[in-house]
Amino acid sequence: IKKTVSVLGLGRMGTALANALVEEGYEVTVWNRTPKTLPGTTRANTPEEAFKSDVVVTCLSTYEAQQPLLTNDIKVLVNLTSGTPEQARATAEWAKANGVEYVDGVIMAVPQQIGTPQAKILFSGNENHHVLDAFGEPVHVGEDAGLAALYDLALLGIMWSAFGGYLQAVALMGSEGITPQQFTPMAVGFLNEMGALLPEMGEETQTKDYETDVSALDINVSGLHLLAEASEQQGLDATIPQALHSLFERAQRNGHGAHSIASVIEEIRK
Ligand code: NDP
Repeated sequence: IKKTVSVLGLGRMGTALANALVEEGYEVTVWNRTPKTLPGTTRANTPEEAFKSDVVVTCLSTYEAQQPLLTNDIKVLVNLTSGTPEQARATAEWAKANGVEYVDGVIMAVPQQIGTPQAKILFSGNENHHVLDAFGEPVHVGEDAGLAALYDLALLGIMWSAFGGYLQAVALMGSEGITPQQFTPMAVGFLNEMGALLPEMGEETQTKDYETDVSALDINVSGLHLLAEASEQQGLDATIPQALHSLFERAQRNGHGAHSIASVIEEIRK
């Protein structure tokens, strides 16, 4: 027989999680701060009522919202609320001290992908992932409870930077009447080529061998200055290129002008 599962939080993601559990044949109880019903599930009036299930899945906006709700009545806690590695570790400590089995997970997907193999659910701590395979493909990233959150923020950081760069580009092109439809295929191709350079860059950050015959930091600092200037001349915000320019320029001032872009990590690590 299948386990009983409760979902705390029926926001965009929590609703998708609860629906996926119903689809998989679990007996699902839901609780949301603002009372909501969901077809195929039982509504709990309080979190305590939801803690009677074998497994409790939480998906609230923040740890600050979640922490006050948790009690040692929970048997197994599968925590899918986004947070920092520190917050995840503190919750793991709390769980251990209270006899609650704990899985910390992060969802690398949008709600529409939940229940498909495209949804990667990174989890850390215990290798037993309980109900996570109902949501997508569980990927164990290590024993330390903080690791899933670390991977999550690292990957999202790449996404936010790339999306910010893309929006700056769309605004710049748009200021001259070029549409996203015209420009985006080139952007996608370029982003894929840049992605292919990451393994080598990663290696340089380890060996600290920043010698380059490709492109020196000097030329990239000048380029970022040009992008910031062009953005301003077109009447656009230049926060993104200015922020990168100031970071790259600091690396240049600290002696990395002739080095590869990978040398900027020396400034970030400080
Ligand atoms: P929503 O804003 O859609 O939902 C937020 C949920 O948190 C609601 O159920 C809300 O309840 C609840 N909540 C907020 N504050 C409190 C509180 N003080 N006490 C009790 N409940 C509270 O967010 P999402 O569902 O999109 O996101 C939920 C989590 O999933 C986040 O940690 C997010 O980072 C993560 N996630 C989301 C993704 C996405 O694409 N949406 C992708 C990957 C991860 P109420 O209805 O009463 O306001």
